[in-house]
Amino acid sequence: MRVAACRASHYRVPREVWWPGGRIGASLYEISVIELVTLEVETDEGASGFGFTYTVGHGGSAIHALLEDAIVPELVGRDPHDVESIWHELHTKLHFVGAGGVTAVAIAAADIALWDVRAVAAALPLYRYLGVHRTSLPAYASAVNLALSTAELVEQMGGYRAQGFAALKMKVGKSLRDDVDRVRAVREAVGDDCELMVDANMAWDVAEAGRRLRVLEPFALAWLEEPLPPHDVDGFARLQRATSVPLAAGETLFTPDEFTPYFRRGAIRIPQPDVIRLGVTGWRRVASAALDAGLPVAPHFIPEIHVHLACAVPNALNLEYLPIFELLLEAPLRIEDGQATPPDTPGHGMRFSEQALSPYRAPTEEVQLR
Ligand SMILES: [Mg+2]
Repeated sequence: MRVAACRASHYRVPREVWWPGGRIGASLYEISVIELVTLEVETDEGASGFGFTYTVGHGGSAIHALLEDAIVPELVGRDPHDVESIWHELHTKLHFVGAGGVTAVAIAAADIALWDVRAVAAALPLYRYLGVHRTSLPAYASAVNLALSTAELVEQMGGYRAQGFAALKMKVGKSLRDDVDRVRAVREAVGDDCELMVDANMAWDVAEAGRRLRVLEPFALAWLEEPLPPHDVDGFARLQRATSVPLAAGETLFTPDEFTPYFRRGAIRIPQPDVIRLGVTGWRRVASAALDAGLPVAPHFIPEIHVHLACAVPNALNLEYLPIFELLLEAPLRIEDGQATPPDTPGHGMRFSEQALSPYRAPTEEVQLR
């Protein structure tokens, strides 16, 4: 089996299309546009695979150009079964473009497409192709909800609780007083038997994070996510030693090597690798390194692909259910009573609707939101 053809595409999709319910924000940003860069791969035997990555509003054209100019020429003619060596070759070839960032996410899109086409060609869902450890796992409901009022936040979290989710995640990163009031309101609304996680999206330094943790600890948080920027491994290590609340991070780490110092220093207890930055190959390396360090993995976002990866490793903790792309997809992920089950169609099964995306193929005048 050889890669016969590849097609890279770039879309800029405004918030109104994928999240018509209102504003969507976290501590350092509000999301008004998502850029999707997709890669379709076809083999000489007629199998097709799909990969993609995304950014929050910027840089999609750079990822698209790197795919077209530097990555697609390396894929055509190759056997998709060599995906793991291709991932390494591409990281070596593109090292001087940068060891993470645009390079990593472009390689991830290609890597996801190659794993998908392997599983499609084998007529197996990706989790079965990789090797089954479980056939479903607990999902937690997550929302990018710092832009909501406290009343709207409580309504949103209570709605997820009523749908059967036993764990919820909310944003923090307002003033200390506002954060405490919002966490208290949600905790009282959802009850003590519900797990509650909070996500600061890199809002603080070590001293401020320590101050916040002292007032948030009484709310029995299941974890505090990204209190600090990802480069501050030392800060994470100091903070983790000083608190009983597990620290989570990893969504803004782009290569497996960036996780290594976190594991060596015991700097976090919940690694959160993301396939759209690491690829399937890099994601599985992080999961394996976490297992060696005695840690679980809790995948970040993109539940439709991560449900397969999580079911194919022994140490997945849970799945982040954040249905941001649901309106753009041909089929939503199946969640029942807070449990996520991978689809039994071949490959990872995640496909964007051509009808939904095609008006937003970049560049277009109407989505030049400035
Ligand atoms: Mg997060």
